[in-house]
Amino acid sequence: MRVTICDVGPRDGLQNEPETLAPAVRAELVNRLARAGIRRVEAASFVRADAVPQMAGAEEVVAAIERREGVEYSGLALNEKGYERLIAAGLDRVNFTLAATESFSTRNANQSVEEAVAAAAHIIERAELPVTVTISVAFGCPLEGRVDPGVVAELAARFSSAEVVLADTIGVATPRQVRDLVQRTHAPGVHLHNTRNTGYANAVAALEAGATLFDASCGGLGGCPFAPRATGNIATEDLVYLLEGDGVETGVSLDALIETSTWLEGLLGRRLEGQVYRAGTWAGS
Ligand code: MG
Repeated sequence: MRVTICDVGPRDGLQNEPETLAPAVRAELVNRLARAGIRRVEAASFVRADAVPQMAGAEEVVAAIERREGVEYSGLALNEKGYERLIAAGLDRVNFTLAATESFSTRNANQSVEEAVAAAAHIIERAELPVTVTISVAFGCPLEGRVDPGVVAELAARFSSAEVVLADTIGVATPRQVRDLVQRTHAPGVHLHNTRNTGYANAVAALEAGATLFDASCGGLGGCPFAPRATGNIATEDLVYLLEGDGVETGVSLDALIETSTWLEGLLGRRLEGQVYRAGTWAGS
């Protein structure tokens, strides 16, 4: 059994950290992750620099990436303009994110769900690159509470020609909910947060339900923007330890990932959320 891990640290991770790292350092993070065997890296975000200063200089990041064969480099675009920039920069895949609820969509992207669906459909139609559609707040919304799985299933069904990722953006899901929604939508991907310590159990549930694509970030980079003291993304090395231990092939070197998270810890000057990089490897793993 083999799965793909998409390390979202350079984009989703760093976007939700207080520090702003220079494009060259972000590119080095991308390169380290690719060298560790990560097969997909979310490298940059093509949004307005005044809106998200941590992601400024996306083109510089992409230009400084040492392309590795077999690695797919993706980027986030939320509209046509971002998409054009992403294409021009030369990435391999576009990640388009839209919300499952109206309130979150309005607050985060200043558009209705229907407007976001139309924008995503337009990008998929052009089909210059493979497209991932990430449905954020797929399990719970900070503004609307529990999200109806039927609504998410309907949304997912509208993107049958894209790759769909179900995101637990605020980290509220529990394993049964994740299992049910993956089964119901047939979504290949999940983006899980460990905000309430259910992230890894949810990953196992998603795996058992047939998911083959897992977003995670090295060291667990990326806090939770809606709960400033809380943690966000599940840590890539913790997920790799879990999966490989259970006989699921990731293609990732745990040692190289641990080294990368240790490097990040030094760079940011503080302990990261991931546990495996602090515990270290174990002779039996
Ligand atoms: Mg995230």
